[in-house]
Amino acid sequence: MPEGVEIVAVSKFHPVEQLMEAYNAGQRIFGENRQQELLAKIPQMPADVRWHFIGHLQTNKVRPLIGKVAMIESIDSQRLLDLIDHESEKAGVVSRVLLQVHVAQEETKFGFLPEELYDFMRERRFEALKATHICGIMGMATNTDDTERVKADFQAIAECKRRCLEIAPDLEGFDVLSMGMSDDYPLAIAEGSTLVRIGTLIFGPRQY
Ligand SMILES: *Cc1c(COP(=O)(O)O)cnc(C)c1O
Repeated sequence: MPEGVEIVAVSKFHPVEQLMEAYNAGQRIFGENRQQELLAKIPQMPADVRWHFIGHLQTNKVRPLIGKVAMIESIDSQRLLDLIDHESEKAGVVSRVLLQVHVAQEETKFGFLPEELYDFMRERRFEALKATHICGIMGMATNTDDTERVKADFQAIAECKRRCLEIAPDLEGFDVLSMGMSDDYPLAIAEGSTLVRIGTLIFGPRQY
């Protein structure tokens, strides 16, 4: 990986033995998209693993994750953000999160529209957060073989992060741009990704 790009090893659906192989090879950041699976894996892995939650998170599943994960990458609603902040404050911890932006030409993906994020920044809603640090933006490209489409999506995600900072230049530590998966990470890195989420390339195909 180029300098400045970190890898989240997306270990969903894979057994802890496989995660340990990656850990022993030096991998420390692991990503999961289901709350129960993540909570089950945490005690089975070394304590210095940094867990990233990368899936759609239902509000009734927030509380057990607070204080257990290094980052929640998939904040897709104000309600979820407010709840994470509330639970983090109650628990006496600071949660690190990414705002998920939706640019893909697919109905199935979650996230804020870019305009919604610009409103968020204009209204300086981050100032209301007591125990949550917004560290940047996460996004996904359209699931397609059309590399021009994928490239345009990554450019749109990168542009969204850039504009957010333009609107709120004093938003500190807003420097993570999480985009790119097994099939498209080189394109994502070319567009400025700092965090790629790689599952299949590391662990092989998932058995659902
Ligand atoms: C599963 C998943 C990935 C990893 O996908 P691969 O194609 O296996 O690399 C990345 N990001 C999110 C949000 C995922 O759910």
